[in-house]
Amino acid sequence: MRQPIIAGNWKMNKTTSEAINFVSELKNKVIALSNTNIIIAPPYTALYPLKELSKNTSINLSSQDISIKESGAYTGEISFPMLKDCGCSYSIIGHSERRQYHNETNASCQEKCYVAMNENITPIYCIGETLEQRENDQTLTVIEDQLLTGLKDLPLTIKPFIIAYEPVWAIGTGKVATPNQAQDIHQFIRHIISTHIDTNLANKIQIIYGGSVNPKNFQSLIEEPDIDGALVGGSCLKIDSFTELITIAHNYTL
Ligand code: PEP
Repeated sequence: MRQPIIAGNWKMNKTTSEAINFVSELKNKVIALSNTNIIIAPPYTALYPLKELSKNTSINLSSQDISIKESGAYTGEISFPMLKDCGCSYSIIGHSERRQYHNETNASCQEKCYVAMNENITPIYCIGETLEQRENDQTLTVIEDQLLTGLKDLPLTIKPFIIAYEPVWAIGTGKVATPNQAQDIHQFIRHIISTHIDTNLANKIQIIYGGSVNPKNFQSLIEEPDIDGALVGGSCLKIDSFTELITIAHNYTL
């Protein structure tokens, strides 16, 4: 069985002191839930203090993006040595909000994934179709392209990698994909990886679902055979809902 993942994308939420309070409480609540890989992606400003606070806990830190450059005149960018210094072992890459507002493409995501993996930062590579693409029956083509371009030449058989399937129409809208809809795409992702990259990898790679996940709808999603957890926005900001999601994932492994 692949280990379940609950990843919380905080986006542009929480000041540093709010982040410290949140993680101080969270770490006590999740001590007994160690079967689940818990990842949080706070804003950059909170990363360094959370490094100390999350030491020796099952909480892992992620960034929400990564620069392909190591250092230099790149105003506003954050590089991998800075992220590693702050204790980040994961990086969300290609979130639909970065694709929408910061012109990320499948090719720029591939570069970021490559840099991250080289530095032993595990990418959480986000893919997913828009509502218009779904309605025009383009979902599978879009997903295939996001995979074939985004995963090109990555050292996937030797380094860890996480895929987050996040239909854009389900993010922050309250419209969750049905378990069947999500399962179909997760299965398709494994099929593409098996056909174009490696069959063992297709079975092994962790694929998580994102888009309006909450404690009420998560149980039926995690029960699907190809869904290995969730990338969560809104429901990760409240300690109770985030802990409930982690508990559901943990219990699912028992
Ligand atoms: C996200 O932004 O990755 C996300 C899944 O958000 P939400 O859970 O709020 O839909």
